[in-house]
Amino acid sequence: MKKFLSEGNQKFLENRLPNHPKLAQAQTPSNLPICVVVGCADSRTCAEHIFSQSLGNFFSVRNAGHYVTDEVIASIEYAISQGIKNIMIYGHTQCGAITAAVQSIQSSIEPISQSVTNLLSKFEPTIRHVMEKNPKLQGEALLRACVEENVRKAKNDILEMSSYLRDKCKNNELKIMTGLYEVETGVVHFID
Ligand SMILES: [Zn+2]
Repeated sequence: MKKFLSEGNQKFLENRLPNHPKLAQAQTPSNLPICVVVGCADSRTCAEHIFSQSLGNFFSVRNAGHYVTDEVIASIEYAISQGIKNIMIYGHTQCGAITAAVQSIQSSIEPISQSVTNLLSKFEPTIRHVMEKNPKLQGEALLRACVEENVRKAKNDILEMSSYLRDKCKNNELKIMTGLYEVETGVVHFID
């Protein structure tokens, strides 16, 4: 699956994006998506585009900063129960949610709403962990490290919060991949 996604990303880089829904049927004869994608809601990070896939191929679960909640877990569990065997979690550079969360730690930012403040506070332990581990990191490098750590956290959260998904992984019935999408270049770097 990693090779498949890498090749899709390569096509995207070469500008050969499939755009016809029938392609999806051809690629997935069982009409079952081939992968669950867990990502940020950022408009530049649409998984179907960056991996050159059509309608029907991905089951997408996305929110700002791809924070894993019970609802996210339920969506993923539903998709996996249908027979999907892969999950791809991907963060991205220039992530507004992580940027705002870093800024809220380093300085004060004008709060948008209580809900947004609550969400940003959820990223705080991950960001503080990165800052303590790498005290010299600043700017873009710090943001990138925080996004990568947030992706690892999402994977850990999924495995911790869902015994259903944990067991599937243990039995080799499910594989969870992680990556970082570089908005600037279009490249997806697999994290592990
Ligand atoms: Zn984002």
